[in-house]
Amino acid sequence: MGSPRSPALASALVKHALTVENAQKAVFCISIQYLVVRHFIRLVRHLRARGILTTAKETYLAAVQKGFAFMLLLPSVRRKVQGELDSVTVDLEKKIAPKDLDAPTHVTLPSSGLSADEVSAALTKLSELPNTKWESGRVSGAVYHGGKDMGDIWREAFGKFEVSNPLHADVFPGVRKMDAEIVSMCLSLFNSPLPTSAIDEHGGAGTTTSGGTESILMACKAYRDRARAEYGITEPEMIVPMSVHAAFDKAAKYFGIKIHHIPVDRKTRRVQIPRVRRAINANTILLVGSAPNFPDGAIDDIEALSQLALKHRLGLHVDCCLGSFLVPFLARAGFPTVPFDFRVPGVTSISCDTHKYGMACKGSSVIMYRSKAIRKYQYSVTTTWPGGVYATPTMSGSRPGAILAGTWASLVYMGEDGYLSSCREIVGAAKRIVHGIRKDFPELEVLGDPLVSVVAFESKTEGKGNGKGSVPIYEVGDKMGKLGWHLNALQNPPALHIACTRLTVNAVDDFLRDLRLAVDEVKEMDQPEPTISAPITSANALAGSQMYS
Ligand SMILES: *Cc1c(COP(=O)(O)O)cnc(C)c1O
Repeated sequence: MGSPRSPALASALVKHALTVENAQKAVFCISIQYLVVRHFIRLVRHLRARGILTTAKETYLAAVQKGFAFMLLLPSVRRKVQGELDSVTVDLEKKIAPKDLDAPTHVTLPSSGLSADEVSAALTKLSELPNTKWESGRVSGAVYHGGKDMGDIWREAFGKFEVSNPLHADVFPGVRKMDAEIVSMCLSLFNSPLPTSAIDEHGGAGTTTSGGTESILMACKAYRDRARAEYGITEPEMIVPMSVHAAFDKAAKYFGIKIHHIPVDRKTRRVQIPRVRRAINANTILLVGSAPNFPDGAIDDIEALSQLALKHRLGLHVDCCLGSFLVPFLARAGFPTVPFDFRVPGVTSISCDTHKYGMACKGSSVIMYRSKAIRKYQYSVTTTWPGGVYATPTMSGSRPGAILAGTWASLVYMGEDGYLSSCREIVGAAKRIVHGIRKDFPELEVLGDPLVSVVAFESKTEGKGNGKGSVPIYEVGDKMGKLGWHLNALQNPPALHIACTRLTVNAVDDFLRDLRLAVDEVKEMDQPEPTISAPITSANALAGSQMYS
């Protein structure tokens, strides 16, 4: 790329004395050549990774977006759009943060503090606001255990470690010990060789984090920094399935990594391996597979990804945030499974959410690496801070030790037998839903062949829209909402999903019965009502958090 041996420079040197003017000209020429070559290589890589059709589509969409942005400069258009947006915001606000709630409100600090009794009464009111009753098992995901016994275990752990902070490991040795043991329990569950001591470079390593997103962010940062330090890669790229969790897009934006989304197979819902292969280039640092993914619960072909990763010496991250403590128990529970953990030789890191099927309190996940040689790039060390040398393993500084205590307590309370039976129940429930839909719903089609807890279904493809036998799926979601269900709406393709939890286990029959009612009702409508359940998986959270700011 634009090397000093470029013909422009060579001929300039031969023909002319190296005057300042000539030197300037030569440098200018080289710079232009360098820029042209660099952009050309980028373009070729981009085209190889995405394909010409996708690139054309993306370019077109970008142009349309620019066009809209341009139109918004016109005051009349802007007023109209703002008006529409305002009414949507007001609707959302009514739904998520209604103003007429019967609950104490403090938008500013009370001038004198409340008494402990008043605080208690206020908290009781807030906890009893009308809500979706997750206890009934009609919510997809969200609450994974939900038993009073587990709540008691958490309260016990929180109470004993209420002031603790793992940032001060010397002050809270118990928290430090539990932190290390949580990681170790996960490493052994995912079949990583365990290190024999703190200075053992071999064997797996990891850290606890505040959740799946932080685990994923940390892995992406570690690979980015490793690639820069060890291979001199300054424009890193990662290759992920289209169905991967949005946290990877977040990581790409936060850490300046280019991200290529590879389509999944229409039938199996697994990432298309030949297209992953085609997207690999000299700047690639990381391949990713999910076990399983969030939208439709498919497990990518980790062995095929592993072969590619080994061949091209890339990192391979397996996102087992959702699979967490279910996937490692599938085989023992007698369900079909596929290779997904450190026994697959190319797998270099795994994220596992203890706060999902690990049944721990929220705010808890683990990121694991095949070796400490990768984990060290996750760490952040500042040696010149006037406050002293400052080193932290993850994004946070101070962290709640109580959450670690609650997590550790959940893990040892459940034990292998506990996770095994919860795997049998939960995956069994998902299988009953798959079977029920396949048997009794000719209008619907289950996406892929779910091996774990997520069941996604779309309208049958023949004659989509108004064809015979097809139903508008988001409207089915709305009807289910009116029947008290809280399913996730998906896009590309439009579908609904339910992630089974311990609470869903006893609601499977209700689910299938209500789904029948919902589908029949939608089929009877002449004119579909406008749907409200657009796929806004967590736009709710943003709207909710911004109500007062
Ligand atoms: C839940 C989930 C994550 C991470 O989510 P958090 O909400 O940050 O814990 C990552 N990947 C998958 C597949 C998930 O389902």
